[in-house]
Amino acid sequence: MPYNIGVLNGDDIGLEVVPQAVRVMQAAIAAETGLDVQFHDFPVGWPSYLEYGHTLPQQTMDGLRQMDGFVLGPIGHAAYPKGDPNCVNAHPILRKQFDLFANMRPTRSYPTLPSVQRDVDLLVVRENNEGFQPDRNMIAGCGEFQPTEDSAFSVRVITKRGSERVARAAFEAARQRGGKRRVTAIHKRTVFKLTDGLFMRTVESVAKEYPDITLDDYQVDTFAMHLVMRPQRFDVILCTNMFGDILSDQAAGLVGGLGMAPGLNIGDTQAMAQATHGSAPDIAGKKLANPYAMIMSGQMLLEWLGARNQDARMVAAARRITTAVEQVLGEGKALTRDLSGTATTDEMGAAIAEVCRAL
Ligand code: ATP
Repeated sequence: MPYNIGVLNGDDIGLEVVPQAVRVMQAAIAAETGLDVQFHDFPVGWPSYLEYGHTLPQQTMDGLRQMDGFVLGPIGHAAYPKGDPNCVNAHPILRKQFDLFANMRPTRSYPTLPSVQRDVDLLVVRENNEGFQPDRNMIAGCGEFQPTEDSAFSVRVITKRGSERVARAAFEAARQRGGKRRVTAIHKRTVFKLTDGLFMRTVESVAKEYPDITLDDYQVDTFAMHLVMRPQRFDVILCTNMFGDILSDQAAGLVGGLGMAPGLNIGDTQAMAQATHGSAPDIAGKKLANPYAMIMSGQMLLEWLGARNQDARMVAAARRITTAVEQVLGEGKALTRDLSGTATTDEMGAAIAEVCRAL
């Protein structure tokens, strides 16, 4: 049975970086004899609105349910016309509808690239569907409300189930990474006594199932400082939704910026590759976008599929991408402008795909 992977280009630079991710995945898959993966395009975002009258049409939702996983490009929802119910921000809906409860965001430095910090290798595991994010806050009905002109409120939802699931994803990741075998949980327990109290009590309880992994914790403000000064100390960083969103961007800043920040949204049965960065309309159409984040998001999807299906060929395809990326970044010839190079998005993707084939 072939694997089926959905491809959703998204908006702006998504139209440039997603095809590079697919190109690299296809090259790595083709190099593994007997590995059969079919890619299927689905409409999403502004191009979908223009063609089908909706930024997330029903055919996309229906089709994605048949997929083993999918690749989602960045969505430029901030530029959509306001008030049109057919202009929705697809990614929180996809995360919620497909119950993708954990967002894995690795940060890695490469010795040959300009970066603020060296020898960084950490993974932010972020709860994906609760917290302060109003667009995901189904329990409260709406995450924000404004009872009067001069006052507005946000509701933060933390549940035992959500905390348990993301904690388990973090401990499993620490085990799989096999490095420092450490999970650092982030909170502001002194202020958010109920929500972060519940989150931390749940994390501490899950930690008992993983005696081989060390758990420690930091207040989010203290951690933000340590992350800048000594990121080498950390391995897996477990966060609630908004803290994880902020800290993973900060971590990306240590190693070359948002173009270097891949991500995978995981659930029990499906996963969605999605780079941390947005649709970057300022550089869209100029061939300047760094495809690394999207390519490595695709790599993470293949790795997740390989582990889930205990498929050594899929795992090998994922490793092939990692090695090819390391080689291309190491040579320093096909790098985009944000990495101090002069290559286009396409040239960098082509170079990585070429090494995938040659390895
Ligand atoms: P969102 O709110 O959708 O998450 P954002 O405000 O975080 O978006 P981005 O679109 O992610 O903003 O990008 C911020 C800036 O970082 C961009 O304007 C662009 O200059 C740079 N950037 C983002 N992604 C890339 C990339 N892949 N390659 C090069 N530069 C990028």
